[in-house]
Amino acid sequence: MKDNFGREINYLRISVTDRCNLRCRYCMPADGFANIIPREEILSFEEIERLAQAAAKIGISKIRLTGGEPLVRHGIVELASKISSIEGINEVVITTNGLLLEDMAEDLKKAGVSRVNISIDTMDPEKYSHITRGGKLEKVMRGIEAAERAGLTPIKLNVVALGGFNDDEFGDFIELTREKPYIVRFIELMPIGHADVGDSYGFISNQEILERFPELVPVDNEKYSVSDDFMLPGGKGKVGFISALSNHFCATCNKIRLTSDGKIKPCLHSNEEIDMKGPLALSDDELLRALTLSINHKAEHHLLNEGAAPIERDMNKIGG
Ligand code: SAM
Repeated sequence: MKDNFGREINYLRISVTDRCNLRCRYCMPADGFANIIPREEILSFEEIERLAQAAAKIGISKIRLTGGEPLVRHGIVELASKISSIEGINEVVITTNGLLLEDMAEDLKKAGVSRVNISIDTMDPEKYSHITRGGKLEKVMRGIEAAERAGLTPIKLNVVALGGFNDDEFGDFIELTREKPYIVRFIELMPIGHADVGDSYGFISNQEILERFPELVPVDNEKYSVSDDFMLPGGKGKVGFISALSNHFCATCNKIRLTSDGKIKPCLHSNEEIDMKGPLALSDDELLRALTLSINHKAEHHLLNEGAAPIERDMNKIGG
């Protein structure tokens, strides 16, 4: 369906859990697990499936499963399979830190997942352990290879640009696309929740990265893409830039989010949430009405650069 500003909303991001097997410093506060959402408040798979069915009826055709870390939720393969068989849903993708992909990639592919986005902010094992508070980089690397073997492609690698942390590795990430058909995407650091965002890491705009690598040539963006895409001449992959802050893409935003505790967030950068648990207890018609209403609440554009109130939820409780 179209929202109040004529945008076709056809993409739903579902956070299946706020739990994660990493604790990235810029994503959640050090005590992030002290205020984890109580299990009884998390949507059941039946509730998620019913919401996805309702969403498909109002024109959602693409679903991303995210979190927290979606692969830590028990039964995620079965959920992916159920969602990908819903009439009208023609694309199911996952955003993951890749730690569990080595064992799950093939099953996810069989369940109907078409591809994965894998978050990897550094290719240095020690730095990886630092930024994730203990993660093992070699497991992610094996996860990326497994995803490639399983055909969860094209693989997108999400790299949050963290000034003073990984700005010396941007060239290495870009070089990766010369030989590998990966799509490396630089994401601007966003001031969300209570994580360590502004104090330890400098904000680097995508424009600054682009200026450092003039050899990158622009290519056509995918339809509805949030990233501006480039490539190295003769390279096998691509390099994308997601500039949520410096050059927001609200005018072409086609998505809404469902949090693991059942709230629709029409915009990542707004504190507005619409509860779906109440409507889930009602008829299908009421549920459709609530979903439609939530889409009509989508603001024309976010106000992060214009002094909007800080985003209260931590990123692991929203779903990136
Ligand atoms: N656990 C999964 C993962 O690591 O990809 C999915 C959830 S994670 C919240 C989704 C994405 O959000 C990751 O690529 C992560 O790097 C990004 N992210 C988290 N906090 C962010 C922030 N403050 N600014 C920009 N990106 C952020």
